[in-house]
Amino acid sequence: MAKPMRAMVLDKPAQRLQLRDVAKPQPGRGHLLVRISTCAVCRTDLHVVDGELPNPTLPLILGHQIVGRVEEVGEPANFKSEISNQKFATGDRVGIPWLGWTDGECAYCQSNRENLCDNARFTGYTSDGGYAEFTIADARFCFHLPERYDDVAVAPLLCAGLIGYRSYRKTGNARRLGLYGFGNAAHLIAQIALYEGRDLFVFTRPGDSLTQQAAKELGAVWAGGSDEMPPEKLDAGIHMSDIPSFPYADLWEERVITTVANLTRPDGEEFFEIAPRVPVQTKTETFPLEQANTALEKFRAGKLKGTAVLMITE
Ligand SMILES: [Zn+2]
Ligand SMILES: [Zn+2]
Repeated sequence: MAKPMRAMVLDKPAQRLQLRDVAKPQPGRGHLLVRISTCAVCRTDLHVVDGELPNPTLPLILGHQIVGRVEEVGEPANFKSEISNQKFATGDRVGIPWLGWTDGECAYCQSNRENLCDNARFTGYTSDGGYAEFTIADARFCFHLPERYDDVAVAPLLCAGLIGYRSYRKTGNARRLGLYGFGNAAHLIAQIALYEGRDLFVFTRPGDSLTQQAAKELGAVWAGGSDEMPPEKLDAGIHMSDIPSFPYADLWEERVITTVANLTRPDGEEFFEIAPRVPVQTKTETFPLEQANTALEKFRAGKLKGTAVLMITE
């Protein structure tokens, strides 16, 4: 048997993660074996623990914002247009996101919408993720990460950053942009929006003057409660909660509401190109791997001072 590794394992939803020695994974064709340095904690991890996402692969190692170094490159796999793992060599720093694999063949994949692939596999959900010392990943879905960030600072960019960026791009050329909520993802998008010269309007929970103050300090034109009207009409807004009923006339003139799901690889390439130019700054709070449960509990309770990042190897 291969040498074991330490991992925090979810045996069943609604249970605490268990620190355990498990078999170190072996890289198959087209895979990278990655020695994990850090892994950021995402709200989706909480949803998996709480059983709110259907059919996770159990037992499961959570975590889909993984930063590490290539320990071993598996045998190359030949796909139609690419040799799978030539992008990376042993020792390279690598980022592993939520989208872990797609079939490349369905109608979505064939039309540049691999984020919607029916057969997609997701890191830390349908395949093992980053709350461990090692993981394997399909090299085609891994990213090179901008050098200006260290392993802690870059980790939150791999999900909050990427998916936030995909939402932001959907707002087109909106000059006056509203952000409903100002959590981790919004804080990252806000920096790009300001860099690109948008006027930013931030809505928080009514009375959350601390968050409103933070938004203004970052450069928002206006920040207020979600029960308030902004001083100007907005061109676009980013929202993540149920939308109450509203008059049809409000959508008149071909206004559009859309949702955003997952990410595509080009989203990642584009985001990691722009992030260091802004430069997008992340706020983090670190925890040793063994304290993943504490990180999740603090996240749930809204008691984190930034994105929780698990530190796995120095
Ligand atoms: Zn597909
Ligand atoms: Zn996530």
